[in-house]
Amino acid sequence: MPNFWLNFPDLITANHTLESILMSQTTPESAIDWAAIAAKLAPVAVIDEPVLVKKRSRDFFWYSPILNEQLKRCFGDLVAQPKSRAELAHCLAIAYAHDLPVVLRGGGTGNYGQAVPLQGGLIIETTGMNRILEIGDGFVRVEAGALMADINKALLPHGWEMAMFPSTQDIATIGGFIAGGSAGIGSISNGALREKGNIIQLKALSVDSTPKEHTFDAEDALQLHHAWGLNGAITEITLRTVPTRDWVGCMASFDTYHACYAAGYALASSDSIGRKLCSTLDARIADYFPRLKGHIRPDKDLLVALVPQEDVAAFRTLMHDHGGHVDLCMTDAQRRSNNLPHVFEFAYNHTTLQVLKADRTATYQQVGVPDASDAARVAAMGALQGDDLWQHHEFARLNGQVVAFELPIIWFTNSARLREIDATYEAGGFPVYDAHCYFVEGGGLKSADYRHLAWKKRMDPKGLLNPGKSRVWPKVQNLSPEDIEAKA
Ligand SMILES: Cc1cc2nc3c(=O)[nH]c(=O)nc-3n(C[C@H](O)[C@H](O)[C@H](O)COP(=O)(O)OP(=O)(O)OC[C@H]3O[C@@H](n4cnc5c(N)ncnc54)[C@H](O)[C@@H]3O)c2cc1C
Repeated sequence: MPNFWLNFPDLITANHTLESILMSQTTPESAIDWAAIAAKLAPVAVIDEPVLVKKRSRDFFWYSPILNEQLKRCFGDLVAQPKSRAELAHCLAIAYAHDLPVVLRGGGTGNYGQAVPLQGGLIIETTGMNRILEIGDGFVRVEAGALMADINKALLPHGWEMAMFPSTQDIATIGGFIAGGSAGIGSISNGALREKGNIIQLKALSVDSTPKEHTFDAEDALQLHHAWGLNGAITEITLRTVPTRDWVGCMASFDTYHACYAAGYALASSDSIGRKLCSTLDARIADYFPRLKGHIRPDKDLLVALVPQEDVAAFRTLMHDHGGHVDLCMTDAQRRSNNLPHVFEFAYNHTTLQVLKADRTATYQQVGVPDASDAARVAAMGALQGDDLWQHHEFARLNGQVVAFELPIIWFTNSARLREIDATYEAGGFPVYDAHCYFVEGGGLKSADYRHLAWKKRMDPKGLLNPGKSRVWPKVQNLSPEDIEAKA
């Protein structure tokens, strides 16, 4: 089973607790005069109002009750808001001179506490660096703080769209997606972010007395991709774009999850029907979507898709052939006139959010499907888990193959029950990529990305970027980049 997620963090080990990480802080917080730092950062705008700094110290870690307990008291000390590369470089130089922990922050929509400052320090919010620099045939070049919805909006009149984007596009930055994300809406056709050709070029600044901008072309961009801002401050990104199509948001309902999932797989692997999204959801999850009341049949398992206008008739036939009923097909104009959200707000991790809006005891997990074509095995795993787990699958393409992964809703009671659920998945051959841990390593790879860490040594020799998020960095920080790389 190919790993859809890049590196999913592993559990905290007994000898590496949050407390020990906090204790390893380089500069005692009390020794830092934050008012003086704010003055040195000028002319860069800063926020020092404690309530606002606290707000910008959070991301969506609270999806996990485990992370919520561990991270809810971790706050930064000061927020800097650079508007240009030169201002960002100035912030990094000040951080270097004063040994300040630094966390880069885009929209703060990451799920694992990626953007939470474990050791306090300076938060650098990049949303002011948001220019769209160039649109060409099959690519867009942007500043890292650009919101993805703005990039898609700018591309549309030119006949292009992003090859993939998360459902958080309205508030999430492209820098945060590259540094923290993996895939999204569009990945069913265009693969994961890390696949060849999706990231064309990255530029990033080092943390130094005079920060230098490094350029990473093609495959080399993977040195920074999904490194959680640990090994450089991304300034500029060139991404692959794809021709836009007249996308129609579709929902079909089914009597069983087995049939719903099988229809999802058939759509995902169809040679003739275009698609940019294909998700399947247990009927009990769909009950948590009040805005869809009257638009979808109640108490039915739900398939959510984006299909081009010219393929809607074929989509209807396919759903019908799998025992489904097409409840909704709307162009974007129709969706807006019905005052409905995008269909992708009922997919990926937005599904979890819709449930959490109603009940904070819900959580989720990230699980691979060993054979995406085997609907019976998927349904059997659902039946094996208890009533406290409701299935939700996303289909995507990895190295040309259709893959599925599961983001189930789990009604959280305690960690022991969560781990029992994980064990049931693993025993059935479904790998778990733990969503309840804040280390960059572990989970998916279950080992370190030494190429990331070698670049950290080059770009951030003092280890100031996002400190505490790498379990392995403290063990290699005194080695040369070449010696770190040799461990790969
Ligand atoms: C409802 C919901 C749905 C989601 N759907 C998806 C999805 O479909 N696919 C997916 O992959 N993820 C998804 N996510 C996770 C998240 O939204 C995406 O990863 C998003 O793109 C993060 O962007 P951001 O600007 O909010 O980043 P942030 O949360 O601000 O940052 C994420 C990480 O990137 C680092 N970072 C930010 N900017 C820079 C920079 N300029 N240079 C270096 N490092 C930087 C931060 O330090 C942090 O470690 C979802 C999350 C939620 C809550």
